[in-house]
Parts: sequence; C-alpha cells; structure tokens
Amino acid sequence: MPTLPKFVAGNWKMHGLPEEGRALARALVQAGAGKKGVEVVVCPPLTSLAPVARELAGSGIAVGAQDCSPQDQGAYTGDVSARMLKAAGCGHVIVGHSERRDCHHEGDSLVCAKMTAAHKAGLSVILCVGEKDPKMENELRNEVVRIQLANSLAASARAGNTVIAYEPVWAIGSGLTPTAEQISGTHRAIRACLPPRLDGARIIYGGSVKPDNAAGILRLQDVNGALPGGASLKAESFLKIIEAAG
Ligand code: PEP
Repeated sequence: MPTLPKFVAGNWKMHGLPEEGRALARALVQAGAGKKGVEVVVCPPLTSLAPVARELAGSGIAVGAQDCSPQDQGAYTGDVSARMLKAAGCGHVIVGHSERRDCHHEGDSLVCAKMTAAHKAGLSVILCVGEKDPKMENELRNEVVRIQLANSLAASARAGNTVIAYEPVWAIGSGLTPTAEQISGTHRAIRACLPPRLDGARIIYGGSVKPDNAAGILRLQDVNGALPGGASLKAESFLKIIEAAG
C-alpha cells in the first residue's frame, strides 16, 4: 500500500445553516485548502451536505456526513442511509463519534453495522474510538481502545476505505489534550492491533486540536492526520491545521 497523504477532517457538528456552510466552504476553496497535499474533508450537518458538496465540486475538498443508518432503506423514521448520503455528495461518514455513543447510546455492534452499510454504499469511514477517563493508565487506555476496535471494526474495512480517529472523550471540546507521549503511545497501540488488511491505514487524532497545537500533534509518529471540531468552524483556523499537516 503506497503511503497515503495526511488526512484532516473538520467535524462541524450541529452548527450552521446551509448558507453559512456554503460560505465556509467557499472560503476554504478560495484559500486552496484542497490543494495542499493533504486529504481534506468537511463534515457539515445533514441539511448542509448537498449545498456544501456543490460548493466544493472540483476543489479537492471532500464532504463527509456525521452519522448514517445501518439499514439500506425502510421504515426507519428520521434515519438517513449511506446510499442517500452518497447521493447527496458525500464520500465519507463519521461513525462511532463519542457524542453519538453518549447522546444516542450507540454501542460497538451498532457502530460496526453502520460501518458495514457505509462501505457497502461506497463511502469511506472515519471510525472514532477513545477512552472517557483522563486519568486512565496507559495499559488500560490501550485495552479500552483495543476492545472498541475489535468490536466495531467491520470486516469490510481496508486501509483505503477506513480512517481510525483516536479521540479521548475528555479532550473533545474541553481545550485539554493528552501529552505527546500519550497520543503517540495510543496511536502505536492502535496500529499494533489493526488486522493486516488495514496495513497503512491512517490513524488520526481528535480532541481540542487547534492552530497552536496542531503542528506538534501532527508531527508525532503514527499520527496521520487530525479531526478538529470547534477549530474547523472558521476557515482561518481550519486552514492553519491543514497547513500544519502539509
Ligand atoms: C470532535 O468534534 O470530534 C472534536 C474533537 O471536537 P473539538 O476539536 O472541538 O474538541
């Protein structure tokens, strides 16, 4: 597997109306964010996916959804299938984000089913894993993440269609980040437990990635990209993170 470029995805969460999403996308295109040697993805809220995808056409920046149904179609009120996301212009989808796990009680087997459905529809998956407790010892943290991966990684996962996002839950939106040693150590542990079919897969870090800490995090061994949330909501700060990855 040839070395894949660094991967930076912005999780916009439930922020912004379609017009605001389009304006942010336009600013990223104007700054050439998709042409910096980094694979760049933005993950807007559902109603902004198609308008943002149209705005980004030909820019080198891809669009991802923040969740998908494990089902192809049917009587599942409120759900959206991976095929529908693909038709809206998505190339990627986040599954297993801690906010879905917490707010919607999603467990590893559901995450695995969502991942399978996403791959079947031709979407690439950003699979989030991470521990909740900031004080967890290294060995226990590695074990928590290993179990999440063992139970949520779909049989369809390959290096080319799957990115693993290590996101310590306590670091998300808190302004706190683990030490460089903790990030490197956990990424190494994740790499060590991936099956051979994921050789070369990117393992990215998420949790309070900002312009001022991005370069330090992105240069760590086995950190192949980033998943910023808050800092992806402004073109200027998201661009700085992309540039730090380039
Ligand atoms: C996230 O949305 O996954 C995230 C890491 O958010 P933040 O960068 O705001 O901590």
